[in-house]
Amino acid sequence: MLRVHGVHAAHEMPGVRGALPQPIAPAPRPRAFLPAVLLAAATAAAAGAAPITVTTDARSIRPGELVVFTIGVPDGTDHVTVRAFDRDVPATRLDNGAWRALVGIDVGVRPRRYRVEISAEGGDGPAATLSYPLPVASRTFPTRRLRVDPDFVNPPAGQLDRILREAKELNGLWERAAEAPWRTGPFVRPVPGPANSAFGTRSIFNGEERSRHSGGDFRAATGTPVRAPGGGRVALADDLYFSGRTVVIDHGLGLFSLLAHLSEIDVTAGDVIEAGDTVGRTGATGRVTGPHLHWAVRVNGARVDPLSVLAVLGPAR
Ligand SMILES: [Zn+2]
Repeated sequence: MLRVHGVHAAHEMPGVRGALPQPIAPAPRPRAFLPAVLLAAATAAAAGAAPITVTTDARSIRPGELVVFTIGVPDGTDHVTVRAFDRDVPATRLDNGAWRALVGIDVGVRPRRYRVEISAEGGDGPAATLSYPLPVASRTFPTRRLRVDPDFVNPPAGQLDRILREAKELNGLWERAAEAPWRTGPFVRPVPGPANSAFGTRSIFNGEERSRHSGGDFRAATGTPVRAPGGGRVALADDLYFSGRTVVIDHGLGLFSLLAHLSEIDVTAGDVIEAGDTVGRTGATGRVTGPHLHWAVRVNGARVDPLSVLAVLGPAR
């Protein structure tokens, strides 16, 4: 039997996750090559209102990536709606008057052209609208084959009720609109160690395919302090079957961090925390073979690579 270090069988039961976003009808071809701002101006001019402008910040437009939208709106706008991947995405006004929304491209999204529908309302004029193209490029994730003790991948029947209950609880968190206010402060690494980020990897344990690895793993000896990657409110602090001692942070705007396999938890649900605050210590609790930190991120339900969050919301480069 090959000994594996720092991996886990799964963090969620296959088949209990919510439905994947469905593609939106493709754009007519000639529009596809218009720069976003021109497209915005054209769309809004047709509607007889001041234009919406959009700038996006992302590592790339591929499955598993966070895309930060900064939305310029007409004067007098008091409400902005954003819809992406068949979901309403919350938007908030920044201090400089622009609006912010976070669009996650789920790891399972099929590559093709999608659209993000944006509308700005307020004052007496008609709502300004913009249909913003989001061409999702293809991405290949690695597959790893591991041989482990069968008990490691097949939870005992007596644990199934607990596993399903916990999966439901977690899915309920992602599906609920985020309640914490958005903080603009930069995100930070939760532990100093490097990420051997196996995000998106398909694992085949003893010849059987298991759910995708929907987080990043960071090397860390047991007892290393785990810092909150961003500010927000603790949404869950509990001991779960797969992820062991786990802390979930609601960062606002639909962005959540899940920090797993902790040896110790130092916060309780409801606590308001800042980026960098210690929430616990690393360990090897739950279904793991060795100590490490598993950091998973959900953005309005989408599973994205935590390193894509650090890349666009981290300290200024
Ligand atoms: Zn992991």
